Amino acid sequence: MFEEELKGLKRKNLLRRVVSRTSPQGALITLQGKKFINFSSNDYLGFANRHEIIEAAIKASERYGVGAGASRLLAGGSDLHKELEERISQFKSVESSVLFNSGYAANTGIIPSLASDGDLIFSDELNHASIVDGCRLSKAKTVVYRHRDMFHLEKLLKTEKARRKIVVTDSVFSMDGDICPLNEIGELCKMYDSLLYIDDAHGTGVLGNGKGALAHFGMRPEPWIIQMGTLSKALGSFGAFAAGSRDVIEWITNTSRTLIFSTALPSCIISASLSAILLIEKDPAPIKKLWDNRGRLIEGIREAGYDSLESETPIIPLKAGDSKKTLRLSHFLSENGIYAAAIRPPSVREPRIRITVSAAHTRRHIRLLIDALKRSKKTRDN
Ligand SMILES: *Cc1c(COP(=O)(O)O)cnc(C)c1O
Repeated sequence: MFEEELKGLKRKNLLRRVVSRTSPQGALITLQGKKFINFSSNDYLGFANRHEIIEAAIKASERYGVGAGASRLLAGGSDLHKELEERISQFKSVESSVLFNSGYAANTGIIPSLASDGDLIFSDELNHASIVDGCRLSKAKTVVYRHRDMFHLEKLLKTEKARRKIVVTDSVFSMDGDICPLNEIGELCKMYDSLLYIDDAHGTGVLGNGKGALAHFGMRPEPWIIQMGTLSKALGSFGAFAAGSRDVIEWITNTSRTLIFSTALPSCIISASLSAILLIEKDPAPIKKLWDNRGRLIEGIREAGYDSLESETPIIPLKAGDSKKTLRLSHFLSENGIYAAAIRPPSVREPRIRITVSAAHTRRHIRLLIDALKRSKKTRDN
């Protein structure tokens, strides 16, 4: 039935495949029996395979079992869930927080809770797909502003009228690795009486000593700011959270369908997340190493002559031309023992290799990637 459609994707070099690891996640991974240095993971601190965190997950499994068996509202959650929420509130200096089963579930649950018929959402054009879907699921009108363009955002905030306004943005943009101008967005929200919803998926554990984008910009939590963060990226675990004032979190808990109608996260995952936050609070070394590695790699990439757009974070796009050329570079890297996936439309407008560097990479891993990129430039002038 879908044969022609699939053939069409293949012709356009847009056919995707699921890739399976036979090793833990980390700087070195095994794919189909072959070892690679991995530059395609969001496990920024190398926590996904860290001993203490694994131990925490095992202990919680032994105590609470595996499946949660029901939604949070029907006692699917344990006292560990509550403890993690309190820990997150403390970590983020907010009044309250609530867990979600994934970043995707958070965005598609929270945004429709905050905005509905008669409300207006202002959304950056490069926001993550889960935000786009959250906006679609809400019955609010969504106005898209040009990427990080504050003049455009202000113009829209000024002219559009609504019962409630909400600006929605990624803190770190997941494909370009640049950071939103949060100070200015905050000022505009104050000026035009708008709520601010921040998706801090790639800021959590990475920016502001791990505390995320608000801390990075020296901003304080406010009742009109709602933060979403994930536990699945830098924290090496799984799930997400919303953090904000007591009232907004209670409202979200009462109205988010992805929270109410979905089974709670397993306790082993909660325990792993708790352990990861403790590690970040106790030891600044992994975050420092992450940023050192990022500095070293971006320097090498520029030296190799690649365009890395406006990257400011461990997410570094590499432009290599159209989908075919991008796939070719990804293949070349793979032949050189490096896993760095090509990202193509519709995930992004312009194809690129999306490099993510982590604290788990060694200097040698980074040098091998830079050397391969230089060779690739020479041999094919990509
Ligand atoms: C990955 C990501 C999500 C989704 O988080 P998951 O926990 O993987 O579902 C949401 N927003 C952004 C910006 C992301 O990069």
